[in-house]
Amino acid sequence: MKVSELGEFGLINVLNEVVQTSNQGTDNSSPLGFELKVGIGDDTAVWHSSGTHGLYTTDTVVEGVHFTRATTPWRDLGWKLMAANVSDIASMGGLCLYALVTLGLPPDTDVDDLRALYQGMADLGNRYGVKVAGGDIVRSPVAFATVALTGAAERPPMLRSKALPGYQVAVTGYVGSSAAGLEVLLSGTPANSEAVELLVSAHRRPEPCIKEGRILLMHGVAAAMDVSDGLADDLSKLCTASGVSATIEAGDVPMHPALQEVFPERCLDMALGGGEDYKLVFAADENLMAEVIPLLSPSAAVIGRITAGDQGRVRVVDSRSGTQEELTPRGWDHFKSPSTTEAN
Ligand SMILES: [Mg+2]
Repeated sequence: MKVSELGEFGLINVLNEVVQTSNQGTDNSSPLGFELKVGIGDDTAVWHSSGTHGLYTTDTVVEGVHFTRATTPWRDLGWKLMAANVSDIASMGGLCLYALVTLGLPPDTDVDDLRALYQGMADLGNRYGVKVAGGDIVRSPVAFATVALTGAAERPPMLRSKALPGYQVAVTGYVGSSAAGLEVLLSGTPANSEAVELLVSAHRRPEPCIKEGRILLMHGVAAAMDVSDGLADDLSKLCTASGVSATIEAGDVPMHPALQEVFPERCLDMALGGGEDYKLVFAADENLMAEVIPLLSPSAAVIGRITAGDQGRVRVVDSRSGTQEELTPRGWDHFKSPSTTEAN
């Protein structure tokens, strides 16, 4: 079987099985006072040591798959690559620590472009206390960059697997703006209005939710993940990990007025299916939800409820029109999607 038939998430399951069955030996965790709490399958790995929960995540961008030199400025690419990693730390409720950066480069790569890439990583990283602490450089037929980032939390992190039936589901802010910004860029629409500029900026310079993640963790929220592939798709992953399903009320999904202005017909599709907003989707009981929502951005909103059974299923109801829609995951799957778009 080829990876293209299996898809990214199917491949993760296959490799996870090998890891689970092959890594049988004792590791050095206990003599050193460490314990691996969460392995493959959540937004970050988690280990515990003397009161601290260590977090570890990684993300890669490849030329021709995630970006093209023609449409993505290197500095924006650096920002986005770092943002994707920082967002995974945010989804656990942690703070960022150290990054290792691996570059794969064709020999004709311009040094100034790489300077811009690193400047973009610093632009974002400096806002969240990230220190670049090392890395590796290899020759490669296409340019790629990998960031591996550590973080830490002082209490057990939020996980995808902790949602319970009856919990409310919420997001920490507007979704769909990044997908709309990408659409604007790909269609070549000139950034001729404030609304269009805002969407493009949401795509090029997404802001991860570290502050929000900290608030949620400190107030006792247990179930969260970041919206990187799309709200519906990521909520489906959270539901799969928790063995539950969810219902979303379409009219409650927070969409920026600019998104509704520029894409009045497609804004809901973009909000449910578009990726890279890097907001957090989380689940908690009603009392806790009522406590934390006022502490977040005014655009944070309860959008639905966790339901029992039908593991991983996400339904979208529109009470105004009385319609109900079953969502199939439309998020980005690296091996099943066309490999030449800028989308990720
Ligand atoms: Mg994630």
